[in-house]
Amino acid sequence: MELLRLAIPSPLRRLFDYFPPRDIDVNTLRPGIRVRVPFGNRELIGILFEVVHETELPSSRIKAALEILDQQPLLPPHLFKLASWAAQYYQHPIGDALHQAIPVLLRKGAPCEHAHEHLWRACAEAHPDSLGKTARRQRELLQLLLEHPNGISSDAIRAEGGNTQLLKTLQEKQLAEQFVNPRQLQPLSGVQLLREPSLPLNAEQKNALDRISPDSGFNPILLEGITGSGKTEVYLQAIEKVLASGAQALVLVPEIGLTPQTVQRFKARFAVPVVALNSNMTDRQRLDAWLKARDGEACIVIGTRSAIFTPFKQPGIIIVDEEHDASFKQQDGYRYSARDLAVIRAQREKIPVILGSATPSLETLNNAIHERYQWLRLTQRAGNAKAPGFELLDIRHEPLQDGLAPGLIRRIGETLASGTQVLVFLNRRGFAPSLHCHDCGWIADCQRCDAKMTLHRSPPHLHCHHCDSQTAIPYRCPDCGSDQLKPVGVGTERSEDSLNRLFPGYPVIRVDRDSTQRKDAMKHIMEQVHHGGPCILVGTQMLAKGHHFPKVTLVVILNADGGLFSADFRGMERTAQLILQVAGRAGRAEHPGHVVMQTHHADHPTLQHLIHQGYYAFALQELSTRRQAALPPFRHLALLRAEATQQGRAEAFLGAVRHQLEEDILLHDDAHWLGPFPSPMEKRAGMHRAQLLIQSEQRTSLHQLLTTLCTYLEQQKEARKVRWSIDVDPIDVF
Ligand code: ADP
Ligand code: ZN
Ligand code: ZN
Repeated sequence: MELLRLAIPSPLRRLFDYFPPRDIDVNTLRPGIRVRVPFGNRELIGILFEVVHETELPSSRIKAALEILDQQPLLPPHLFKLASWAAQYYQHPIGDALHQAIPVLLRKGAPCEHAHEHLWRACAEAHPDSLGKTARRQRELLQLLLEHPNGISSDAIRAEGGNTQLLKTLQEKQLAEQFVNPRQLQPLSGVQLLREPSLPLNAEQKNALDRISPDSGFNPILLEGITGSGKTEVYLQAIEKVLASGAQALVLVPEIGLTPQTVQRFKARFAVPVVALNSNMTDRQRLDAWLKARDGEACIVIGTRSAIFTPFKQPGIIIVDEEHDASFKQQDGYRYSARDLAVIRAQREKIPVILGSATPSLETLNNAIHERYQWLRLTQRAGNAKAPGFELLDIRHEPLQDGLAPGLIRRIGETLASGTQVLVFLNRRGFAPSLHCHDCGWIADCQRCDAKMTLHRSPPHLHCHHCDSQTAIPYRCPDCGSDQLKPVGVGTERSEDSLNRLFPGYPVIRVDRDSTQRKDAMKHIMEQVHHGGPCILVGTQMLAKGHHFPKVTLVVILNADGGLFSADFRGMERTAQLILQVAGRAGRAEHPGHVVMQTHHADHPTLQHLIHQGYYAFALQELSTRRQAALPPFRHLALLRAEATQQGRAEAFLGAVRHQLEEDILLHDDAHWLGPFPSPMEKRAGMHRAQLLIQSEQRTSLHQLLTTLCTYLEQQKEARKVRWSIDVDPIDVF
């Protein structure tokens, strides 16, 4: 008996057995090919895991697969193994995990080939006269084919008024034929790699580059360099070495960092093909880019999180830029970390991996400190640029005007008058974070979440940023009928308003998710800013990443206190990273920059430490706190989340799970349960949520426990009444 054991995208954490389709020689089938199968009353696409000879199922319950879709596996064997390993590590159903590792079009069953891989042309002897006068459309089509001796795609033929039926007719008459478009694969050796010369490196950059070698085998590197220190230049030159050795490069960037400017910078430097992979591309474009990487046609791939699963013909290096960025961890469904998988992948493929950041995550920093990673540092700004100076502005007792202290307003005015630009950062979009009644204290809450509605002015409405609910702004208080409804707090729209009033002669440019929705909006903003006249940029963290604002000399952080007292143990780390990233926008070129942070806690030791001693000193202190509190990176965490429409049900369910497992299985000495607790925002989008935390010293004991836990949950009837999920190495915990 021969059976196909398939990974099928279903919520079940198991593989499924099928008989092979009739007339198929099973010995020719290789793991990693796609198979179309009946599943319930649907048809799904599974991926062959292995061919097996026995199964636990009675053969009467086994169905036959319908169709084999590929001759060759979609992913090279090592990548297939990595994707399978990741499914297990993140406790995600294997079928869905493998599906997420391949482009959308392939998940849907499209052929694994380039657009226009098959072209049409006229046969050698074909002549329109061989067709009768009545066959006008056939003659026209043949004429079209004759005009394209190198072939023409069926899409282009359709655009010219032809169709498949006509083509088939010509083919039967042996006047037209289909052929495979030969790909232009250039051999890399000997070709010109660079379009523009690379910059002469400073001593630190040179030292870093010398330690990155394409033939070093697995070599994990933390490249810690302050913003503007020339990390990107080091990436570019490391990639140049890799290309020269005939291999390809993968560059992972945060979601917000993959701007046309980023891609442009790589394209400007290299004369070889560079492709981007991101969510703005169509499924077709993504598949084409993916195939180019797989076939070795694309030399450099720049992509966001999911690009970690891109196959390469000749993998040479992986670079993770801004490795601390939270967007590398997928936050729902399949919760993998592309940053962590990059290191695993590099290890398996025996290539160097560079994790770059001005503010490395404590996990990565700890690995560098313990010499698991090579640690390369860039401490100087490249070129002549100077690092910005910091200042804490104590705003206790200060009369604030829409969030701005008088001293700060003066400073902004002086900066504009001197002809340079100002960047105002605040972490709230909309007009005001809430709306309340001055007479009775009523607050506009979201009906579906434990959260306030944000007031937006353009267009006017109330918006919940957690579940996306939107409602009209009430004229009167729903509780007491008063018309004294007042916005509370400051969002970007309000800041924009008040800066416009305070500095009427200068443009105020708002940058947040609302103002950049239209296509090319960001491009226009950047053009305006780079034009260089004095102006004020006001915005959210969209301003904090990736962009260079060479004329900005004053950076204002309106409220530095946000994360200081956050319940999440990473709150402090996040705040420090954000502050330094925002600050890094200032004084990039010839203008020295200055950063002013408004705070109610000017003497907060951590803030003081950060601005006087820098990120590294801050991070060391934070690491020692983490060690004492038995938190990552000194412990491993996993979170079991549950949600239900009925209040209390999720928590009760998790309580029962813990109780049951404590009785039934022997917990390793080093593993502990914490909770269940209600989630930080207990109600969200109508669901009541709770979580149970598992903490352990050893990875192996954590994973043994998680595997038991998953098996247990899948068998529980109760588990079907709640939605549960497992998050391994969670980044938002409390
Ligand atoms: P980072 O990625 O660390 O923020 P970049 O690589 O973007 O830094 O460099 C910041 C600026 O300094 C860029 O304009 C870049 O062209 C310039 N730069 C980088 N390295 C050098 C160098 N060795 N000499 C002169 N300018 C440099
Ligand atoms: Zn009221
Ligand atoms: Zn809501």
